[in-house]
Formats: sequence, structure tokens, C-alpha cells
Amino acid sequence: MQKPLIGITTRNGKDSDGHPLTALQHSYVNAIVQAGGMPILIPTILAEEDFLDLYSRLAGILFTGGGDISLDYFRGENHPRIGEVDPNRDATEIGLMRVAVSNGKPVLGICRGAQVMNVALGGTLYTHIPDQVKGALDHAYPGDLRRTLVHPVNVSEESRAAEIFGETFLSVNSLHHQGLKDIAPMLRVVGHAPDGVIEVVEIPDHPYALAVQWHPEWLTDQVPMQRLFKSFVDAAAK
Ligand code: MN
Repeated sequence: MQKPLIGITTRNGKDSDGHPLTALQHSYVNAIVQAGGMPILIPTILAEEDFLDLYSRLAGILFTGGGDISLDYFRGENHPRIGEVDPNRDATEIGLMRVAVSNGKPVLGICRGAQVMNVALGGTLYTHIPDQVKGALDHAYPGDLRRTLVHPVNVSEESRAAEIFGETFLSVNSLHHQGLKDIAPMLRVVGHAPDGVIEVVEIPDHPYALAVQWHPEWLTDQVPMQRLFKSFVDAAAK
């Protein structure tokens, strides 16, 4: 049997000579391979017609971490720390998310991917948590701290996420300065950090639509994170 083809969204970077790149950390690729999927990169520079053509061949889509979503897509507070906005990536990912949700194609969102899920479906974001969420923990541990567990996440017992993780108490990394604010009507919040910051959302009436605010692709030595990627690839294989 062929492995399910999992599209992974990419960022637009530059090589050392300044030439544009389609870029993706290996951690995402490895997590999909480890879970039994066949990864394929989704360039975020394609015209809509072409990314929809690619979409039709995919069994599932992984929406990855990255820079901030443009305020063109949601009602949010402008903030000097909004950074790495990429109009091509925004258009591709928001377009793909909307079509995948309406077609029932499995989707997994990670970090920015969770924010894309909320914004694409009508939600909003905190544009800089430290200035907008009272009493918030530090959620931005950049650089080398990707494998460092910095805060717990409590997962609602009655949720798909709890079934998937096999746990309702997780220890996670945290590399985000934005967060989910007003939640899109379709989404259900099923996991929080102790300060109330939203860490897990799911779409109850969808075959598989789940998103997390942390980076499980750096924590694939943990059983709950292995279960997360496996459940996603298994749903895509159906
Ligand atoms: Mn966090």
C-alpha cells in the first residue's frame, strides 16, 4: 500500500547569496516520515489555480510554524513586534485551510498553523501576548530551546485531542509571541496553558482537524506527540 501523501507548507527564505528559497525544517519532514506518511513540500509561491491542483492530490496537509499573519486577514491590534509577514504564504495557507476544512481533508496545524486555522475560519489573534494577555507566562523561547519543556497544557477530557494524545496533561515547548483570541465559530478550544493562553483547538464536525500552539515536531521522543502525528497520518490514509 502506498503511504499517504502529506503536503507540508513551507516558508519563503533566502540562501546565503540572497536567492529566494522554499524552506522547511527537517523536523517536520521527519515527524511525518516517522508516523508513516510520505511528505511533499507545498511551495507558498504558487498561483491559486496551482496550489488547488496540488491540493487535490494530497491526502492531508500539515500547516507549519512561521512568521505572523497579516492584519489584512483579521481584526487585530497593530503592534511593532508583528514580523516576518509574507503575503504569498498567507494567501496560500489561508486558501488551503478553507478548502481542506470544507472538503473534510485531514489537517494538522502547528504554531502559526493553529493561527492560520483560526483566522481562515473567521477568528482573531493576540498580536503580541506579553502586551495583550494579563499575567501571561513567557511563551516565546526562541533559538535553541525547541526541545525545552517550558509550560504544561491541560487538555479537555471530552475531546478528540485527549483521545489522540492519550493524556490530558502535557509538557510542551513554546516558541510563539502571538496567540488565538476570538475563536472561529467552527472551532472548539480543547487545551490551555495555565495562564489561559489557547494551546489546542479542534473542529468537532470534521474527520480530522486539529491544531496545537507548540512545536510537537521537536518532541517526537514523547509518546503523546508520536500519537499526534500517527493519528494525523492514519486519518489521511483513510
Ligand atoms: Mn505556549
